[in-house]
Amino acid sequence: MPTRLLDLMPTESGIELRLILSSHITAKYVALSRCWGNCQIAKTTSENIHSMFHNIPLSSLPQTFQDTVNLCREFKIRYLWIDSLCIVQDDIMEWRHEAGRMTSVYGNAFLVIAASASSDDNIGMFPRREGHYYHQSDFEWNGHAITVKAQPWRQHYEHYFSGEGPLATRSWGYQERLLGQRVLSYHQDELFSECNEMWRCECGVGDRIGNSKHPYNLREIFDNGKNHLDALYREWRQTIVCRYACRDLSKASDKLPAISRVTEAFRSRLDDDYVAGLCRMAERGL
Ligand SMILES: [Zn+2]
Repeated sequence: MPTRLLDLMPTESGIELRLILSSHITAKYVALSRCWGNCQIAKTTSENIHSMFHNIPLSSLPQTFQDTVNLCREFKIRYLWIDSLCIVQDDIMEWRHEAGRMTSVYGNAFLVIAASASSDDNIGMFPRREGHYYHQSDFEWNGHAITVKAQPWRQHYEHYFSGEGPLATRSWGYQERLLGQRVLSYHQDELFSECNEMWRCECGVGDRIGNSKHPYNLREIFDNGKNHLDALYREWRQTIVCRYACRDLSKASDKLPAISRVTEAFRSRLDDDYVAGLCRMAERGL
């Protein structure tokens, strides 16, 4: 479990949500993947951490966080992990320690919710979905009451790089998506859900069940390269590095940390070794 989680359904009255220590908890939690953007980031610091453990008013959080809390409550999932709230942001030692645990934080989450269409935390989860999502017409035909529901046209994007939204351009977002066992992505025009067994979207064009072969399923990537080391190195170069290399980072120093958990997973399967602090995989791509 992560070191801290947000408890979204505290039992004490008057408390909306709060930070808790989660080492003693064995329960489902959601992890949020999103762009930090340039807005004022809601965060936990050494100054406000005590009040965060007491109560966090929902209205004090940016729109994307509020939408995520509401989704979790709809899904009846009590605990939520958001990096800027669950890691003390002005404690560099803690940040390094927690950054090293990203594999388990995202990998053990029951669900990763990705705010793919939001360029910063104030945008919210559904920037293009305001107003009536369905258009409904009621009429009578041959004595029967008929209801017709129509949806606006959705643009289907097969890959992140062809316009799925701002999160698709972020380096950290790529690793978070790869590590998540189940990912629910709120894209600009439709909702995507993916897990180790399938990939589905609202329009149905991209639905794939079983051997989906999409490039964001780490298990499939490992399966593709399991028979020969060269095949696995090829997956590393062509699937991981190619998709990672053109993504953006807020800090250049995050270039290796933002993919380090995936790198470690590859390194252990390749039984690779380290040379001057980098595994040999680095020579083959990154
Ligand atoms: Zn679609």
